[in-house]
Amino acid sequence: MPCPYCAAPTMTEMARRTTLGYRMFRCRACRRTCNERTGTPFNHLQVPTDIAVLVVLWRLQYKLSLRNVAEMFLTRGFTFTHETVREWEERFAPLLTARLKARRRGKTGRKWHVDETYVKVAGRWHYLYRAIDSEGNLVETMLSTTRDMEAAKRFFACALQTVGQAPEKVTTDGHDSYPRAVRETLGPDVRHRTSRYMNNRIEQDHRGIKQRSYPMRGFGSFDAAARFCPAHDELRDHCRPRTRFNEAVSLADQRRLFGGALGRGVRAAPGCLTTPATGLPQPTAACRTTAV
Ligand SMILES: [Zn+2]
Repeated sequence: MPCPYCAAPTMTEMARRTTLGYRMFRCRACRRTCNERTGTPFNHLQVPTDIAVLVVLWRLQYKLSLRNVAEMFLTRGFTFTHETVREWEERFAPLLTARLKARRRGKTGRKWHVDETYVKVAGRWHYLYRAIDSEGNLVETMLSTTRDMEAAKRFFACALQTVGQAPEKVTTDGHDSYPRAVRETLGPDVRHRTSRYMNNRIEQDHRGIKQRSYPMRGFGSFDAAARFCPAHDELRDHCRPRTRFNEAVSLADQRRLFGGALGRGVRAAPGCLTTPATGLPQPTAACRTTAV
């Protein structure tokens, strides 16, 4: 691997390893030492990378409080506080969201169902704009404090950026802002349909985030909710065994697909979220601080 400090390819592996067993290297150009995690968001974590990734995946996927997650890992000998879980969620959930979004770019269907659901943030109801395609695959999720033209336009612009292509049809519940937002953001050729009946699909799909956020009794801040909701939706979509609406998938296949989707992510953790070659966003300044 190239040196994370000076990018020189002249790295020599050292005989010793880090406390957690990661390989160490010395750069012959700048004389600095580093290990396998140097330059990644996982550097300086006091637990192995796959454990931190698993903490975030379980926190996003299941109805677990921050303390639940910390307790579950305590039984396996990993000691960290619920505040650490919160910090890892803050640092790694956006990376996971970006990676999963990038993976499904260009793969979404051309018929979108769009709707908003309510999420409580700091005691106030906010609007979570969500869109799925006609096969139930995720298009986009976006949290907004308002439900108006500006928010609808911003949502469609985000969806377009994520998916990479405009849909042929958009079905909504008929809120006043949608016709103009569709026309001006997605283009005049996109057909806009209004039907409560046809939009049942997305209304049922809100269950995922509703069920997950229910035991949390709302989010403390807008930033926390805006980070958690898309990450949850992306992971839920990634672990979804079906690719078509109402597709029959046997239990054995569901287990195989789920194990592949979640297990592969954990096993590939040290490099997959962080390698610059993947074009993923690099960690922000806040991400570079020591974890615990
Ligand atoms: Zn160097």
